[in-house]
Amino acid sequence: METDLNQDRTAWLLGSPAGCAVAHDGNSPWRLVMLGAPGVGKGTQAQFLARRLGACHLSTGDVFRAAKERVAQEQTSAIAMALESMRRGALVSDLIVSNIIRERIGCLVCRGGFILDGFPRTISQAKLLEQLLHGKELSLSAVVNFELPQEEILARLSGRRTCERCRAIFHLVSKLPRAEGVCDDCGGRLYQREDDRLESIKVRLDACEHSTTPLIAFYRSLDLLVTISATGAPDEIHARTTYALRSRMQSQLYSS
Ligand code: ADP
Repeated sequence: METDLNQDRTAWLLGSPAGCAVAHDGNSPWRLVMLGAPGVGKGTQAQFLARRLGACHLSTGDVFRAAKERVAQEQTSAIAMALESMRRGALVSDLIVSNIIRERIGCLVCRGGFILDGFPRTISQAKLLEQLLHGKELSLSAVVNFELPQEEILARLSGRRTCERCRAIFHLVSKLPRAEGVCDDCGGRLYQREDDRLESIKVRLDACEHSTTPLIAFYRSLDLLVTISATGAPDEIHARTTYALRSRMQSQLYSS
């Protein structure tokens, strides 16, 4: 399972016509969706899996954060609306998300596979994903659903700090950087995401309860769901996840 591909997410972050610099061999690519409330650690686990499986980490939250860094004149009104929803912790409209995904269809059909993080977040987005993949005769390998008690979610989100350059994730209690406010990996500045403040966290958890939780039943009915406990250290959760994915792959091989 181990590969060491250098991920190039330019095409995903900027949308077409940006090209992709990674050459994939297309051998049994993984196509995974990460589900779970904000703060369960989907992003961290997606980064681990991407490195391990050689598939790109495709985060819709990162697309919006990359857009935010562009100067205001370069932002379309749809992106400005999306960023306003994001600041409040609310979901961006399905219409805007669907346009963003359609512009990035190249990343979904990539021979290297993908680890989707933050999309789909509503049933309508999940149906769009099914439709786009089926249109290219592709399907998901699995949907990983991370579970964590609410008190722990709040503690994780309020202490989270993100590197503004490479997006590595740290925590004020459980994963302190070696130097305060500085990323261990690239030396970038660590900051607190606007939507990691308490007012926004509450809105995000509410949005998750209403819009994202129904996805669990949706993917269970498609027999794609793999549920993982997200308690413990990131390495332990990663080990649990790869074990569950491997077991699923083996049982599929035996039943086919
Ligand atoms: P988290 O999962 O920790 O909330 P993300 O980085 O995935 O963080 O998303 C941050 C914000 O971006 C969300 O709160 C929402 O405003 C917006 N967003 C990202 N993906 C979607 C999506 N698929 N549908 C609607 N809004 C989204």
